Amino acid sequence: MAELVEKMLSVEEALERVLSLVRPLPLEEVPILDALDRVLGEDIVSDINIPPFQNSAMDGYAVRAADVANASPANPVRLRVIGDLAAGYAPEVEVTPGTAVRIMTGAPIPPGADAVMRFEDTDEGQALESNLHAGARRQEVLILRPAAPHDNVRDAGEDIRQGERVLAAGTVLRPQEIGVLASLGRPTVKVHRRPRVAILATGDELVDITQPLAPGKIRNSNEYSNAALVLKYGGIPIRLGIARDNVADLTAKIRAGLDQQVDLFITSAGVSVGDYDVVKDVLNTLGRINFWQVRMKPGKPLAVGLIDGVPLIGLPGNPVSAMVSFEQFVRPAMRVMQGRRAWRKQRIQVVLDEDIKNTSGRRHFIRAIVTKQGDQYFARTTGDQGSGILTSMVKANALLIIPEDQRLARKGELVTAEMLDWPEVE
Ligand code: AMP
Ligand code: MG
Repeated sequence: MAELVEKMLSVEEALERVLSLVRPLPLEEVPILDALDRVLGEDIVSDINIPPFQNSAMDGYAVRAADVANASPANPVRLRVIGDLAAGYAPEVEVTPGTAVRIMTGAPIPPGADAVMRFEDTDEGQALESNLHAGARRQEVLILRPAAPHDNVRDAGEDIRQGERVLAAGTVLRPQEIGVLASLGRPTVKVHRRPRVAILATGDELVDITQPLAPGKIRNSNEYSNAALVLKYGGIPIRLGIARDNVADLTAKIRAGLDQQVDLFITSAGVSVGDYDVVKDVLNTLGRINFWQVRMKPGKPLAVGLIDGVPLIGLPGNPVSAMVSFEQFVRPAMRVMQGRRAWRKQRIQVVLDEDIKNTSGRRHFIRAIVTKQGDQYFARTTGDQGSGILTSMVKANALLIIPEDQRLARKGELVTAEMLDWPEVE
């Protein structure tokens, strides 16, 4: 067979080769709520001022600052109330010397006025609550404090100026960016497409999760952990079910996946050196796939290449190996496809609470529980580190990274932890 077994690759070399197969996906225009957590594909330039007009930052009275420059509780200034203006309405009167307009937050500043006195700085604010409601019918108001021009006035364009570039292409859209798009009157926006990721489990021992466990069989958990990871990292899982370890079924299932316009193809199992060669044979017949040994534990076997022009990553079958390899290779590939520049998991230094041995000569990713005590992070392992112990991932919130050449990391020593659920960084 055409299998190509190379020297063991470092994690970095493997990642670099995986990333060389992917690039940001084309843009699509979507409703702004569908754009959450996705990468903006266009610069957003405002064609309006926001706010569009000068308005009040407070509930109170719109006044001429000069009228009340010397007001105090001992020497209140009496103003005639000539109008009452709620948010959403245009002013109909001009504030002339000696007058005021009762105004609500967000209402336009009427012509003639240049400051807003808060209710608290008038006799209305000093009145009992029952009288507050009578404010709308007031004929006059006593101003108890001085005002300077522009007090409690929000200017047109103070948030966003017409012609300003508000959001740059490449921005990951959070709720606040969605809010800005809404305030600009943009119902839709251009973002990078989400990758459609085909997920195929292989193995004669697998049964679907709805099926009873016959002798020798196990449930196909990888399909679901992989699909959940695809969702978690912004992709669309295309689940292809289980392919049996024979050429006809594998070929049919892979073709069925390729027929669904997928951007990335993930398989699990059948790629280790010792494996019965059918998965490798079929992958090699349909595409150009390399079978690697990566200097890491778990996750040593990895298949990477192109199949019908679609990048394919063949993950190991062991559930923990599949998840760790997904985190290290599939996740970055998916993030790059989404146009994200921040795709590295955050790494921090943690103090070991126990000794850890690493006799593998490979980079050992240890499932761990990291907790913060005071200013310092501490880590303990989740117990049995077997690559089939999926509950070791359930308990973990981090992967400790024990270097290839370090045979022992001692209790009290500082080691690097990759935080599984922290946001990614550049
Ligand atoms: P393999 O990579 O084919 O040697 O598989 C390694 C181990 O992973 C074996 O114990 C398999 O039974 C197990 N395994 C393979 N595929 C899956 C799957 N989809 N879900 C759960 N376990 C699996
Ligand atoms: Mg197998």
